Amino acid sequence: MKIICIGRNYINHAKEMNAEIQEEPVFFMKPDTALCKESDFYIPDFTKELHHEVELVIKICKAGKHINESFAKNYYNEIGLGIDFTARDIQQKCKEKGLPWEKAKAFDNSAPIGKFIDKGKIDAANINFELKINGASRQIGNSKDLIFTFDKIIAHVSQFVTLKVGDLIYTGTPEGVGAVKIGDSLEGFLNKELFLKLNIK
Ligand code: MG
Repeated sequence: MKIICIGRNYINHAKEMNAEIQEEPVFFMKPDTALCKESDFYIPDFTKELHHEVELVIKICKAGKHINESFAKNYYNEIGLGIDFTARDIQQKCKEKGLPWEKAKAFDNSAPIGKFIDKGKIDAANINFELKINGASRQIGNSKDLIFTFDKIIAHVSQFVTLKVGDLIYTGTPEGVGAVKIGDSLEGFLNKELFLKLNIK
């Protein structure tokens, strides 16, 4: 399986990153070794600024390429919550040099994932989600504020990359990204229900 991540998909997050709003989705990938299903996360020693980015994640249930937007909803069946961990200090250096972001984004365990819910049980266009750290709210988002909807993402990405069953798409983070530190307890909520819990070590 592969992990596809969408960047700058909420206006207020693009603003906090001083990034332009793009006319089409920005995407990058993480390898399967980035997936982290454990409840403990160890900060890698190569970064001094590891940022949390809580994101809604869709799970691909049908292989496809060149998927038309009007059929895209048939290609994912579950929605979950994940974190796109980002070594912001390294990403910044990559950006300055015009280099790829993999070192900052694709390292081992950089994609924690929580549980999923069947798409049919919720309204994909109005999903509340939130990240709390040590009990305090740090990021709040709603899928209605996505610049590019799940269907648009699938249509766009599948023009370039064949989607396969089990692939995950991290759909972008809302505003409020920031650094985590050893000892932090992260809790991710989807429509007020706990979907993800992570202890930072
Ligand atoms: Mg992200």
